[in-house]
Parts: sequence; C-alpha cells; structure tokens
Amino acid sequence: MKQNGFHASPTHLDIIIDEIGDEHVSTSVDTPLRADAFDKSDDQKIVEIANHFAQIMDILGLDRNDDSLSGTPKRVAKMYVKEIFSGLNPANFPDIKLFENKYQYNQMLVEKNILFYSNCEHHFVPIIGKAHVAYISGGKVIGLSKINRIVQHFAKRPQVQERLTMQITKALQEVLETQDVAVVIDATHLCVSSRGVKDVNSSTVTANYCGKFENEATKNEFLKYIEL
Ligand SMILES: [Zn+2]
Repeated sequence: MKQNGFHASPTHLDIIIDEIGDEHVSTSVDTPLRADAFDKSDDQKIVEIANHFAQIMDILGLDRNDDSLSGTPKRVAKMYVKEIFSGLNPANFPDIKLFENKYQYNQMLVEKNILFYSNCEHHFVPIIGKAHVAYISGGKVIGLSKINRIVQHFAKRPQVQERLTMQITKALQEVLETQDVAVVIDATHLCVSSRGVKDVNSSTVTANYCGKFENEATKNEFLKYIEL
C-alpha cells in the first residue's frame, strides 16, 4: 500500500462537532512527507534524532549526566521511529489477508471502540481516541483484527484527526475494494486538555460516510450501533 495512494474528496468529510483548538487546520488527505522521507534507515534516524533531542534537553538546562536523564535522548528517538511514528513508513502497513464472503453476509459489519493513541502534528502531544469503523462487503471480508491494525497504522503518525479519519477510510476502501465504508472517530487532544485552553471535557468527533453509508437509514443504523 503506497503512502500517497489515497486521494479522497474532502467534501465527504462530515465534521459533526469540531472543537479543535488553535491552528488545527488540516491541509491534505496525504500526510505531508518529503520525497526523501525514507532514504535514511531507521537506525540512522534514531542516531540523528537522539542527537537533536539531547540538544533540546541541553537548551532547557537539563543535566544529562543525571542517571534518570542520560538515556532519554536515545529512548525518545527509538520511540519516535519504531513506535509512535512508525506508521509514517508505508513499509509498515499491516499485511492484510482477505477472505471470500462465503457466508453471504451482506449487512454492515461494525468494529467499534477501537482504542488508539496518536499524536497531534501541531504540538507533538497525544491524541487519545476511539475509532468506530463499518463496512458492507462487496465480496471480500477482512479479519477483524486487521481493521484494528489499519487504524493503529495511521494513528502512528503525527496527525490531525480529520486526516486520520480520511486515511483509515481510504485504506479500507482500497483493501476491501468497496466504497461502502464509514469511519467515526471520537478523540481527546491533550494539546487542548492539558495545555492552552485546558478544556478537559471536550472531545472531537469526525465522521466520514461513503457509498451506501451516505444513505440516511444506513448511516443511522451504524450510529445506533456505536451509540454516540
Ligand atoms: Zn495540537
């Protein structure tokens, strides 16, 4: 699956509630990546990020000779590259195995309450949320855990919630070869709750209904299942 293979019309993005704070404006469905994004190996990136993070700590005045801090630059760098931003690399897109829809189940399948952790690309602090995903099989079905893995893949990037919603939708549409996909995300942005306006109660809901889910009755059935 290619990183830049997703092109969706933003008009499908139906933002129910948007309480995103300062400067949270998304610009594109594709994560803005440089052409040379993967020229360096993961190991090389870890070395370079560790160096730079050490400098940030130095500038903040932290004593990196302290036992508790000495391993932090390397730890942060490894976490960035191998864990929380590993979804930037299309090579890490999960292996997806599809099955024939041999049960002839032609109703919607809903996978709800998929917990994910992402990071806001404007502040690099966590976004914690739940994704609710539905599709109607066009002949292929997907292992349920793979839906979770697709959500996690796109969450492991510096993100904005609107783009995350679109990327999950487009990936599922491509993998399942159907337009009939719906994605709703309800998430808390720590850049809103722990800093800035410090609103601990607000959450942000984004939704994308495609194909048969644009039908009001089908959409409402999905929303009833997820009880949002
Ligand atoms: Zn933010």
